[in-house]
Amino acid sequence: MSDAVAPVLRRWEPVIGLEVHVQLATRSKAFSGSGVEFGAPPNSLTDPTVLGLPGALPVYNAAALALALRLGLAAGCTIRRRSRFARKHYFYPDLPKGYQISQYDEPLCEGGAIELVCGGERRRVPLTRIHLEEDAGKNVHGAGATSLVDLNRAGVPLVEVVSEPAITSAEEAAEYMRALHLLVRTLGISEADMEKGQMRCDANVSLRPRGATTLGTRAELKNINSFRFVQKAIEHEIARQARILDGGGAVVQETRLWDGAAGTSQSLRGKEEALDYRYFPDPDLPPLVVDDATLDAARAALPELPMTRLDRFVATYGVSLDDARTLVGDPALADFLDAAVAASGAAGARAGKAIANWLLGDLLGMLNRDGREVAASPVGPAALAALVALVDGDVISGKIAKDVLARAYATGDAPDAIVEREGLRQITDTSAIEAIARELIAANPKQAEQYRAGKTNLLGFFVGQLMKASGGKANPKLASDLLTRLLSE
Ligand code: ADP
Ligand code: MG
Repeated sequence: MSDAVAPVLRRWEPVIGLEVHVQLATRSKAFSGSGVEFGAPPNSLTDPTVLGLPGALPVYNAAALALALRLGLAAGCTIRRRSRFARKHYFYPDLPKGYQISQYDEPLCEGGAIELVCGGERRRVPLTRIHLEEDAGKNVHGAGATSLVDLNRAGVPLVEVVSEPAITSAEEAAEYMRALHLLVRTLGISEADMEKGQMRCDANVSLRPRGATTLGTRAELKNINSFRFVQKAIEHEIARQARILDGGGAVVQETRLWDGAAGTSQSLRGKEEALDYRYFPDPDLPPLVVDDATLDAARAALPELPMTRLDRFVATYGVSLDDARTLVGDPALADFLDAAVAASGAAGARAGKAIANWLLGDLLGMLNRDGREVAASPVGPAALAALVALVDGDVISGKIAKDVLARAYATGDAPDAIVEREGLRQITDTSAIEAIARELIAANPKQAEQYRAGKTNLLGFFVGQLMKASGGKANPKLASDLLTRLLSE
């Protein structure tokens, strides 16, 4: 949170609603057969429908519907079995027809929620709706006064995900975006690369006095094109509105353009200039019918959802909520954990928490240090499971395990092989440990005397010496028990 925001939050509660557009990863466009490809030569992906030529008729792409339904089901929305397309009119050079085909009062999905973790808590942000749309083209502003239009993006299928005004911080808005991004990628419905414009966000922000129940006047921020900017743009807007309200002024309802480079926003148009889109049902398109087979197929295509996985990690592996969030946020990490638990044999899910700790701690530390992907880790899931089993079975101590992991990472050798080769097995033979303990007590008579005189915290000194003398291999619990007994003799 930026310093400018923290103090105003004591007086004002932010209320945020997000409108997020996500491109659906179909091979062809929403209403015609042209291909969809990022970075193709300008205007190479068009046809009479995309160009809005008279007489060309749109037909909705069944593949786009299948993908949108997956998202609607995953978010727990109510699916409308007969939804409608509507024309949304406005004039802009990148919109050849003079209208965008969207959905208005009969959208495909209503209700539902995006689930996320924020501030160490599991939360649900309710959705208003998810509707189908087509994308517009792109104006390319060249040198001087020239502007060119590229219609490759025109007609690309989109879903617009509209949240209720129920997000209460810039941080939560950023988490919402991350959760939605992860969800659509997990569902395989979009790459959702924000840099390629495959996921875009408009943020509606208002403030109200803490404790109030009615909504304040909102401003809508457009052009937020990175995850980092979602949080920055909203924090900036919260600070801007708080300054106005604290100065006795009133926030005006308007659309503002976020400038990421400058870190500020500028008014684009006020409420009076708000566009009248003159929505009406598109007469060229029949109602969009979702039959049972289509709905069943979409349901069958749902993988385990990120938040279901998160709950499973917490409930069956005993991983903390924050660790589970880190793991689930990177599917490669989560897959690694599941594979390692699967390789744990009899230990099963019981080993999950320890494996997660080693994975997020030492192993990830080494991978990050070397700039390596988790999937390319020299210590694979089975090897990490084997390491945890060695510690769990008291074959090696946690401290020795750190060295074994580092060696396994450097050589690719199996932890068991390293332990045997280097003779790292823990000494659990009582007589061997006792012999070392007796030698130590004899060699340190002063400390032994002080211990007996009541300075019992000297036990730590003896345990440390014993561990050192045994090359770290003595079983620490055994060592401590034996020393306690011998020192009291
Ligand atoms: P429009 O169609 O003009 O953009 P909507 O009523 O459809 O307006 O709302 C768009 C988004 O704005 C939704 O995500 C909604 O949650 C959010 N929103 C509406 N009113 C407010 C408000 N007072 N403060 C913050 N967000 C709001
Ligand atoms: Mg809007």
